[in-house]
Amino acid sequence: MKPSEAVNHYFHRAADQLALTENMRTLLLTPKREVQVQIAVEMDNGDLQTFIGYRVQHDNSRGPMKGGLRFHHEVNLDEVRGLASLMTWKTAVVNIPYGGAKGGVAVNVQNLSTRELERITRKFIDEIHDVIGPDTDIPAPDMGTNAHVMAWIMNQHNKYHGFNPGVVTGKPVEYYGVPGRAEATGRGVGILTVKTLSLLGRKPQETRVAIQGFGNVGSHAAKFLCEADCKVVAISDVSGAYFREGGINIGDALHYADQNKHSLEGFTEADRITNEELLELDVELLIPAALGGVINEENAPRIRAPLIVEAANAPVQPAADDILDDKGTVILPDILANAGGVTVSYFEWVQNRQYYQWDLDRVRQELDRVMLEAFQEVWSLAQERQISLRTAAFMVGIGRVGRATVLSGIT
Ligand code: NAD
Repeated sequence: MKPSEAVNHYFHRAADQLALTENMRTLLLTPKREVQVQIAVEMDNGDLQTFIGYRVQHDNSRGPMKGGLRFHHEVNLDEVRGLASLMTWKTAVVNIPYGGAKGGVAVNVQNLSTRELERITRKFIDEIHDVIGPDTDIPAPDMGTNAHVMAWIMNQHNKYHGFNPGVVTGKPVEYYGVPGRAEATGRGVGILTVKTLSLLGRKPQETRVAIQGFGNVGSHAAKFLCEADCKVVAISDVSGAYFREGGINIGDALHYADQNKHSLEGFTEADRITNEELLELDVELLIPAALGGVINEENAPRIRAPLIVEAANAPVQPAADDILDDKGTVILPDILANAGGVTVSYFEWVQNRQYYQWDLDRVRQELDRVMLEAFQEVWSLAQERQISLRTAAFMVGIGRVGRATVLSGIT
């Protein structure tokens, strides 16, 4: 199943519960705009290379469209389309006044110098600057991009349209960003994980955790859960997975990755296993925090964790979702679990518009409030209707987007 079909599958399951008409479903699922552009760049060695960039703007009924920008060699239009739609439901679940969008460039960032990365970013903005903006569509970091890339985006966009830091979020704190944005997605994952554990009657001290992906989201989630007394027994990145039954010292792993170009390659304080083995470990909690689609029909029967928190976008394929549901596995879905990033992005945009800066305590406090309120609404609906947390989250999101669409007048 293609990524966009997987999102639509979950959409329809919730739409059935909401008794949405076919016409309304088509309206809500159809992206407003899809852009594909050529990015021709001279590399450091003088070679000319051509990359393809995408921006899909899915829905703006609740506000300007919002979504990350992914630089990864596997990026394609369908993946971006699926992720843009996920953003629409995500911003609605946490009830921030945004629609959904997503962007990507098919490029392997590991092969790029900083100068090459900057040239690709600026060239991409040259191609799409007219369709993004603080009141239309606001990019943010995702896999393969970071605060520095966001700074280049602001600078390049402002060359065309004048000074306006609100065109992009996830910027460096010293350059119109906010404290707490980098940790926000991982912190949100942590906050909701601890809440779910307590509702399931599980003690953090008795919770062994495996986390796939040790980038922005995975590393901050690992740190938060460690501080909350969970035992993180496995972590991983593109170099492989690392397992230690007695628990991994996350401080050491963070320090190691920091000194090693953000890679765990060569980390010796744990045994080396594969990323596939990590997913199937005997743990109480599994957190996929890297790529989409990693839990599929084939490996789902072997997944032993009774709780999965989707820090990555779309890590569980629909066929696997059914298998896990039958086994009684509780899944905290991506559109709720990883919404901390877009929530703090919203805070950053609000502050950019007000030329005012909150301190870290206020950012964290507001983030925790937004995440826990959204969680409570989804959890209660799931209990009331005896449905999965995913279907409940989609129902909350679709309900809000649907009402805004109708209220604004469709034709
Ligand atoms: P990142 O680029 O900072 O980190 C990605 C991590 O995944 C790295 O450790 C990388 O080595 C690892 N990885 C890549 N390919 C892998 C593979 N084949 N097997 C195992 N590990 C692999 O990205 P991120 O920002 O942490 O994003 C991770 C996930 O979280 C993505 O699905 C992204 O869409 C989602 N997400 C991110 C944010 C955010 O604020 N950054 C918000 C919501 C959702």
